[in-house]
Amino acid sequence: MDHTQSEKIYEEALQYIPGGVNSPVRAFKSVGLNPLFIDRAEGSKIYDVDGNEYIDYICSWGPLILGHGNKAVLKGIEEQLLKGTSYGVPTSIEVEMAKLIVEAYRGIDKVRMVSSGTEATMSALRAARAYTGKNKILKFEGCYHGHSDALLVKSGSGTLTYGVPTSLGVPEDVIKHTLVCRYNDCDEVEAVFKAHGADIACVIVETISGNMGLVPGRKKFIQLLRDLTNTYQSVLIFDEVITGFRLGYGSSPEHFDIEPDMACFGKIIGGGLPVGAYGGKNEIMDMISPLGPVYQAGTLSGNPLAMYVGKNTLEYLKNHPEVYRELSEKAKYLEDGIKNNLKQLGLDLAMTRVGSLFGLFFMTGKAESYDDVRNCDLEKFNIYFKEMLSQGILIGPAQFEAMFLSTAHTKEDLDRTIKANYNALKCAYNL
Ligand SMILES: *Cc1c(COP(=O)(O)O)cnc(C)c1O
Repeated sequence: MDHTQSEKIYEEALQYIPGGVNSPVRAFKSVGLNPLFIDRAEGSKIYDVDGNEYIDYICSWGPLILGHGNKAVLKGIEEQLLKGTSYGVPTSIEVEMAKLIVEAYRGIDKVRMVSSGTEATMSALRAARAYTGKNKILKFEGCYHGHSDALLVKSGSGTLTYGVPTSLGVPEDVIKHTLVCRYNDCDEVEAVFKAHGADIACVIVETISGNMGLVPGRKKFIQLLRDLTNTYQSVLIFDEVITGFRLGYGSSPEHFDIEPDMACFGKIIGGGLPVGAYGGKNEIMDMISPLGPVYQAGTLSGNPLAMYVGKNTLEYLKNHPEVYRELSEKAKYLEDGIKNNLKQLGLDLAMTRVGSLFGLFFMTGKAESYDDVRNCDLEKFNIYFKEMLSQGILIGPAQFEAMFLSTAHTKEDLDRTIKANYNALKCAYNL
């Protein structure tokens, strides 16, 4: 596969952008390659500047549940664009978007739009702290909630891959209120609440974590978080930036039958444009400026074009509930294919799947916490990644990233992927 043009652009990029990329995972550093620069994408396929075609399982890290360039998502975008790109004063599209989210998501009454998932979680923490009058926050090792200071402690994917559990530049004073527990560990959370419950403003959690590979939260664990936060009057925040509108149109409250007090969104709700949102119960959200004393603002928050595309996405998902069944069936087909490959090759690797999200771990045993998955054989993953890429399959360039399926993936795509998976596993394990 020829990557001459990508290499050329990368060389120039290195001069003007730190590491040549605007988000670390794109550097392909953990797999020992240089980044691909993309020219275009359509449906399930993505094309680099050298004209190579790949079946795409990154899907922009989750937003593109309907595939690249979906017609329903982009419908009317040109007219909307020509009406202006940003006004700094409200539009009715923002109201429609907020209504869609609130009506879809059990447990939240109001929602505030922002421009990224990072902003959403950061702002949710502020609101939760103000509402409870407490300072401590509790998060789980391997969960990623964006890169705001207080949350950049033992976070997932990028930070796991690069072995920087806590970033430089985050003062100890800032994270001294951040408590970290092991994911899915009920005993540890209970003990931490016993010791600090009176000071814990909120618990923030990915109900299905997509940032240490795919590690699903157990229902018993999520239910315990609900019970403890109720008992200690802490705010329970579901970080649904990946899972929102991915697990189903009702997201985690529907999937687990458990409602949080607040929820954060991003990725899918922007349909590929920069969007985030945080929502919660009236008594919490009414603390936010201009109603209350919690300040939070954004020049491009609720941007009309982003809202328009996000609204198209959510409306499509709402009107086509069969999408989720279809996605699950496809995902199951791929899962079965990969499991069959593993069996044929006599390999016993851990694999996880929830709906259209996957994890394949280069280790044996269970994958229920970061402690479990940290034992993955990264060298084998790297060989696997390169072999998949050379066969035209693009997966996340790191062991600790989840794989995303879209409705645009065809049966032919899946069959090609299963075949490539067989070859790449064979190669990685010298079989
Ligand atoms: C991607 C992600 C974020 C951060 O969103 P950005 O838009 O990248 O800032 C937060 N939480 C989770 C669970 C994510 O996967």
